[in-house]
Amino acid sequence: MPQCGEGGSAVRVSILSFGLQDHLFVPVIVAAAPSQWRGRCFFTRSLGSFGWVLQELLSSFDGCRGMPIVTVTRRLRFNAAHRVHNPALSDEENRRLFGKCNNPNWHGHNYELEVSVRGPVNETTGYVIDLGQLRDVVEREVIDQTDHRNFNLDVPYMAGINPTTENIIVQMWKVLAPAIAPAQLVRLRLWETENNYVDYEGE
Ligand SMILES: [Zn+2]
Repeated sequence: MPQCGEGGSAVRVSILSFGLQDHLFVPVIVAAAPSQWRGRCFFTRSLGSFGWVLQELLSSFDGCRGMPIVTVTRRLRFNAAHRVHNPALSDEENRRLFGKCNNPNWHGHNYELEVSVRGPVNETTGYVIDLGQLRDVVEREVIDQTDHRNFNLDVPYMAGINPTTENIIVQMWKVLAPAIAPAQLVRLRLWETENNYVDYEGE
């Protein structure tokens, strides 16, 4: 969680903002700054353009003005099995589309996941976010449910979804973005092999 200017004074503000979050327009009316926002920059790109307005307003609070904005990344590793298969297609079409990745008896990969968070550098710690805390969240929310498991059979957030790298990273985002908020998750990069990776920025 980005923290800017810890110990900021209790700031009373009045903000009316309409943010696009989780595909719904959510009216956000802030009559008094919630305590968790005091002295902090509040970043969430999921709020869309109005979120940036909110960020601008809050960035004028104690300790936030002029702080450099930095993106930090934590890499985590796991291995998992899968079979790339679309049940809506015939076996022959699946074999033609997915080749060896359609092998009925599974195959595995050593995956690497890079999690990038963007925010202001905290004056006190010099951090955007404690990367140890970020690691703990990603391990709890994603890695522990995935490592040494089968994407097709064992992983709750992939239930019923064809486990291509693209589909995996989108589902990981859905789990991680709210778990990391209000810190701003800006990119996931998932390596399936040494040569193949996919990026997702939440769009
Ligand atoms: Zn594969």
